[in-house]
Amino acid sequence: MSLFSRFFKKPTQECPRCLGKGNVDWEDIKRLKKELKWLPAKCAYCNGVGKIHSTNASKSLAENTYLSIDLTNSERNKLLKSKDDALNRSKLYDEFLDEMIMEIEHYYFVDKMSIEEIVEELSKPTDDLRIFTIDEKALKEYAAKVIDFKSKLR
Ligand SMILES: [Zn+2]
Repeated sequence: MSLFSRFFKKPTQECPRCLGKGNVDWEDIKRLKKELKWLPAKCAYCNGVGKIHSTNASKSLAENTYLSIDLTNSERNKLLKSKDDALNRSKLYDEFLDEMIMEIEHYYFVDKMSIEEIVEELSKPTDDLRIFTIDEKALKEYAAKVIDFKSKLR
């Protein structure tokens, strides 16, 4: 046993997000109800390993929308250590997405607005300081995705 081996213990617990595959597919996305929040990709919880350290195991982290492969390594590590500032950003991120999904749904199904009108409405500057931004092209694609998904539920 090398001097550092105890610091680099291999993770042993099956990753609750990807169920040990190392990547998140549509099955996992449906199971965790993240259809409008994630795309299939390498699993950000276990970092593609399929296993996690039991000390990091948490149901809320497995379901944490913000914990995605788009995060920087330092932000990911902060989340895994449940640092308050990172947890706060993850909460704001989820609220930001939930609010946007609700607005798109309302504008489309209740106000009968077109996707172009919705994108214009959502692109208007708001009073609150949004810490997350999304460009117009991505917003348009996202609005179409939300409408498609919500149409199937109606
Ligand atoms: Zn995983």
